[in-house]
Amino acid sequence: MINDQVGATATASAVRHICDEIRKRQRFLLTSHARPDGDSIGSQLAMAFALDALGKSVRIVNADPAPDHYQEFPGMDRIEIAAEVSADVDAVIVMECSDLSRAGVAGLENEFLINIDHHAGNRLYGAVNWHDESAAACGEMVFDVIRELGVRLTPEIATHIYLAILTDTGSFHHSNITPRTFDICRQTVEAGVNPATMARRVFDSNSFGKLKLIGALLDAMELADEGRLAILYMDDAMLAACGCTHNDTEGLINLPLTAREIQAVVFFKVGPAGGVRVSMRSKYDVDVRAVAGQFGGGGHKNAAGFTVTEPLDQVRPHIIQLLVDAIEHGLKSRP
Ligand code: 5GP
Ligand code: MN
Repeated sequence: MINDQVGATATASAVRHICDEIRKRQRFLLTSHARPDGDSIGSQLAMAFALDALGKSVRIVNADPAPDHYQEFPGMDRIEIAAEVSADVDAVIVMECSDLSRAGVAGLENEFLINIDHHAGNRLYGAVNWHDESAAACGEMVFDVIRELGVRLTPEIATHIYLAILTDTGSFHHSNITPRTFDICRQTVEAGVNPATMARRVFDSNSFGKLKLIGALLDAMELADEGRLAILYMDDAMLAACGCTHNDTEGLINLPLTAREIQAVVFFKVGPAGGVRVSMRSKYDVDVRAVAGQFGGGGHKNAAGFTVTEPLDQVRPHIIQLLVDAIEHGLKSRP
């Protein structure tokens, strides 16, 4: 209880500090991590619409385009894609990035940085930093900032906050959900969000090619640790055979977790240049972030990732072993 109160006080003062710095300034650039997901898109656009309401000027710059099924959400056409930017702004708000390099946008290093993030291990690289690992989505933190700024929750802002939470909780599956999560969602629904429409738009917008890819991936799925660990593998040849691009792979990693026995999934995605993106998901207390940390990556307890540049055959046994250990450890501490 005392810790909760200390946490609440720290949060309130961090939010006030951020809002003071925002009010003092006029021109903003917003960014988030490369290969954006629903939380990075939702956090940035909610913040952008809120800053618009205060009469600020706003640019949004990302390293990569968002997956197709996000393109119809309000404000998506405002996002500029660039690997480098000459900012000319009064402040840069970086959301969802434990390190500035996660943005993948060069040229921001010397700007006045406001860092808002919920990933473990945030490097506190900003002039102002608010790091709250207890937030289920960065969108929860952005919501608090918007409220403190006194901006009305418009349908656009509410949509993006809900999008951030819906996706970053793995559609309300992950173990980082709190009463605060639902309280914020309640307010977004009161502001006009339709949860059924949001779920359909985000999760039921697959192409036929993606359905084919699901079949191919699950057909080739391997199991380890007596069926508790699922291993998915994908390369460009599999994508091409199904008429898909990397854009179609979001969410696929969650499929094996629908089997009761499976406690964790690792998904190896071989890119055209040979590097391998490794994504991991888990249930309950199985900590995949700790595994990602061993390979220079990060994320959250139930969703984490990293990139390997060595040949996959060389590192794969080590990754699998660490996941098996994480499963054993997580199962032991399950109530
Ligand atoms: P995904 O598997 O969807 O790419 O990522 C899952 C989670 O892990 C996200 O929160 C993402 O930000 C984080 N993550 C993925 N890859 C990396 C990485 O290379 N470094 C860090 N620090 N976090 C990562
Ligand atoms: Mn997030």
